[in-house]
Amino acid sequence: MVIVMQAHASEPEVAALIAKIESLGFTAHVSAGSERTIVGVIGDERPIEPVVFEAFPGVERVVRILAPYKLASREFHPADRVIALPNGVRLGGGQDVVVMAGPCAVESQEQLEAAAEAVHAAGVRVLRGGAFKPRTSPYSFQGLGEKGLLLLREVADRYGMAVITEVITPEDVPMVAEHAEILQIGARNMQNYKLLRAVGDADRPVVLKRGLGSTVDELLQAAEYILARGNDRVALCERGIRTFETATRFTLDINAVPVLKHATSLPVVVDPSHATGRAEFVRPVALAAVASGADGLLVEVHPNPPEALSDGAQSLTPAAFAHLMGDVGRVADAVGRGADGTDA
Ligand code: PEP
Ligand code: MN
Repeated sequence: MVIVMQAHASEPEVAALIAKIESLGFTAHVSAGSERTIVGVIGDERPIEPVVFEAFPGVERVVRILAPYKLASREFHPADRVIALPNGVRLGGGQDVVVMAGPCAVESQEQLEAAAEAVHAAGVRVLRGGAFKPRTSPYSFQGLGEKGLLLLREVADRYGMAVITEVITPEDVPMVAEHAEILQIGARNMQNYKLLRAVGDADRPVVLKRGLGSTVDELLQAAEYILARGNDRVALCERGIRTFETATRFTLDINAVPVLKHATSLPVVVDPSHATGRAEFVRPVALAAVASGADGLLVEVHPNPPEALSDGAQSLTPAAFAHLMGDVGRVADAVGRGADGTDA
């Protein structure tokens, strides 16, 4: 951290600042120029906030040198991290594209069965489906709860698929972890720190979705909460953010893919379904994500979208999904990547 003093900062002001720096266990490096004095804070600055020094008399501004997250940074862990699932799927590493697909919400045995059969036939090895739904309206379908988890487990096992499903409260984490290989943290819960700590304590990989109004930096700091509890199997998911644009449900921040790949070695996933909100836009956006280096995709598929209890407008039919999977393979090939993600 570098602290730039105001032009007329007095010597006692600089001395008081140095005393504060040293009281926090850091070393101060003073560089007195002809017009300005600059004070370097030597040591791992990540645990402290710039505001600690900003209020001191004579301070003009405080500039961070290190990112506010450590465990999540590529600097700390240079090699791409790979999340290996029990069924042989490997998420991360920038080569294979792992497609996780299924309905927005588990609605019934028949619906889940039809969706699972379709995505499995198209090559999917990770089944998605919400049992606990964080809906904007309290009157919308809230999910089947534990019954939904049991259905996911049973159907996925029949096809040798892993399960990814959302957990919305810390208390539910052990129950969801019992039935699913991957815990999903939804966009609306990205900064639910109690929940982040709870999944950080779970022995399960986590897909952490970016909040709809959150920066990449805030996403990485949210991931840091999970990593700091000892769970290093975290993937980050870009699922669209709120902008002034209303033509689509959200706006996919495609920049986030290379930006995250640069900042962290954690796997990066893109959700083109929530990002666009419209089934007809899912394919092109999914392909852009593959071309930009995403390690995985999270795609909503429903056997009968007009009848879906949630997110029908953005859900692909089985036929549209099969078409997408073929294109994912071709784009992955074109950019020198594989389209499968299994070592089986
Ligand atoms: C979902 O995956 O069904 C979901 C609710 O996504 P998000 O948290 O990104 O809105
Ligand atoms: Mn959904």
